[in-house]
Amino acid sequence: MILIDGKKAAAELREKLKQEVFELKTKYNKVPGLTVILIGDLTPSQIYVRNKEKSANEVGLKSEVIRYPDSVEEEKVLDKIEELNKDDTVSGILVQLPLPKHIDKQKVIEAIYPSKDVDGFHPMNVGNLSSGYESSIPCTPLGCYLLIKKIEPNLSGKKAVVVGRSNLNGKPMTQLLLKENCTVTITHSKTKDLKAECSKADIIVAAVGIPELVKGDWVKKDTIVIDVGINKTEKGIVGDVAFDEVSKVAKALTPVPGGVGPMTIACLLKNTIECFKRSLK
Ligand code: NAD
Repeated sequence: MILIDGKKAAAELREKLKQEVFELKTKYNKVPGLTVILIGDLTPSQIYVRNKEKSANEVGLKSEVIRYPDSVEEEKVLDKIEELNKDDTVSGILVQLPLPKHIDKQKVIEAIYPSKDVDGFHPMNVGNLSSGYESSIPCTPLGCYLLIKKIEPNLSGKKAVVVGRSNLNGKPMTQLLLKENCTVTITHSKTKDLKAECSKADIIVAAVGIPELVKGDWVKKDTIVIDVGINKTEKGIVGDVAFDEVSKVAKALTPVPGGVGPMTIACLLKNTIECFKRSLK
């Protein structure tokens, strides 16, 4: 079984991006800039944002974090986004989710120019991705996709099963696999027989949020299994895949932690650089 080392893959990607930023700086005398807006003091969000800032600095991006208290008015956030939209030194804008209840998430997402939407959540980017056009791609599915391609460069005709249909993970993952000519089945909480669906898959991507949902006897021996889940349990952080069982049968599997997670942030940096390059055109 191949244990897919997301930490190593992310470090390699960051190294490549660092070189790219250096070359862009040499050629254009400017560097891509990422601005993150963080509202409130939720600990996981604080940790994510700190890691994003650290990684951005590491590859040489210009990075800035704008912090607001929980009580900030929606209008103030929207005004700031508008200011950043017009700022040429800002290539990418990310508003860290979740947001306080009084702020309309969709309004915030749609306020960001699609050309600066490094999360790929703007309806314009969602539509472009599903139409097969150039777009920002949500970071976690992009990371999963890059890990799958490392194991199997030619995905044409493969049967892929995506477990979970969130806008964040499942749906964009499906689009990426379709683009690679996979035959994709998207499953969700109302799917009748998840085991039967997974049993046919050459590729399984599990993004559900249920600890160890995908079992060993759901997986064929040549299947690539990507585990997006991050679940806090009594035995620590576990994924959506029963690691001990599945690692005995699958061809390749991502661990949790150390699989998809590190790739997510590296892909955010990649998206920022892509936004910068598109802005030069
Ligand atoms: P979500 O709650 O938005 O969506 C979960 C999806 O799972 C839904 O579409 C639902 O229909 C489906 N589902 C629920 N029960 C099911 C069942 N029994 N069988 C099949 N499908 C079922 O979740 P999300 O935001 O997509 O996150 C999923 C997991 O990924 C969570 O554990 C989250 O913490 C993790 N996550 C990890 C990263 C990372 O970087 N590794 C990033 C984002 C989210």
